[in-house]
Amino acid sequence: MEERLVLRNLKLISEEPVDIVIQNGRIAEVAAAGQGSGTRVWEGAGAYVSSGWIDLHVHAVPALDPYGDEIDEIGVKQGVTTIVDAGSCGADRIGELAASRAKAKTNVLAFLNISHIGLQRIDELSDMQWIDAQKAVQAVRAYPDLIVGLKARISKSVVRDSGIEPLRRARALSLETGLPLMVHIGSGPPDIREVIPLLERGDIITHYLNGKANNLFDAEGKPLAVLTDAVARGVHLDVGHGTASFSFNVAEAAKRHGIRFDTISTDIYRGNRINGPVFSMARVLTKFLYLGYPLAEVIAGVTTHAADWLGKPELGRIQAGDPANLTLFTLSSEPTALVDSEGDERIAECTIETKGAVVNGEFFEC
Ligand code: ZN
Ligand code: ZN
Repeated sequence: MEERLVLRNLKLISEEPVDIVIQNGRIAEVAAAGQGSGTRVWEGAGAYVSSGWIDLHVHAVPALDPYGDEIDEIGVKQGVTTIVDAGSCGADRIGELAASRAKAKTNVLAFLNISHIGLQRIDELSDMQWIDAQKAVQAVRAYPDLIVGLKARISKSVVRDSGIEPLRRARALSLETGLPLMVHIGSGPPDIREVIPLLERGDIITHYLNGKANNLFDAEGKPLAVLTDAVARGVHLDVGHGTASFSFNVAEAAKRHGIRFDTISTDIYRGNRINGPVFSMARVLTKFLYLGYPLAEVIAGVTTHAADWLGKPELGRIQAGDPANLTLFTLSSEPTALVDSEGDERIAECTIETKGAVVNGEFFEC
């Protein structure tokens, strides 16, 4: 007989107590707490349940160094049910990611690096010959269910003397493929005021809370006009914490000025997972609770907002009949030291801890 798993005594973000019943990879039933019936019961003891967390910026190719890691280490083991690799691969190696995806438990999507060499070098846009439109278009056609966008890293150490020419090429490729861009920002040149105006509705700025000299806020913490203009035309703001791209000072200024995140992502890979300052998605989310965003908004940053951007709203809801992708977590009142990319520390009174995840109906305890 097919297993029917009851996740007993959970609560939705709205605090409504529920049982969730899973069968054949799908949510069979969302019942009142204590009312779900099945062949196996897991006691949730009041843990929260949300739709499965989506991390829109990770590095999931273990062979790449420094920006690489194992899919399930940064996915399901962190309570993250869908990861989106952010340009680790260009056309040369995207097939490798597609192959490892088939063996992983976590759902995997990807941004294709516009440089065909991807992160085999960390100055992958310094030589225009590495941007080969034909190779990129072929890769997009070959992996339509994997590739959700194009990645261009537009900062000094990546582009060197190329300025914004790589971003112009990215824009042309976006037009040709119909795919949006995720643009990494950081140190200049190019000046951030030259970069942001090239982004359009549906494109993503990742690392928008970075504290580098070329960031999106002025010395008083006010958002630059290019940023408020971008938000007004529907450019999507993504955190992409990473080793060097999240500043508490900037995040506090952004909040003061009402510049909200659309999605919260980690930019996680081996080094910043093991040694910090990222560690885990739960730790990054805890930083946004610390900043004073309500729990429902923080969780929306890894559920509904990401799912909507992906054009897969079913990934952001909990509904009978949908594939079962869920994340279970609790709030702990253990004080925790949080460190940003600048070495600044804050003490969180409330910490998010993952307890489990369901990926396509399969349950994992964290
Ligand atoms: Zn980056
Ligand atoms: Zn990255």
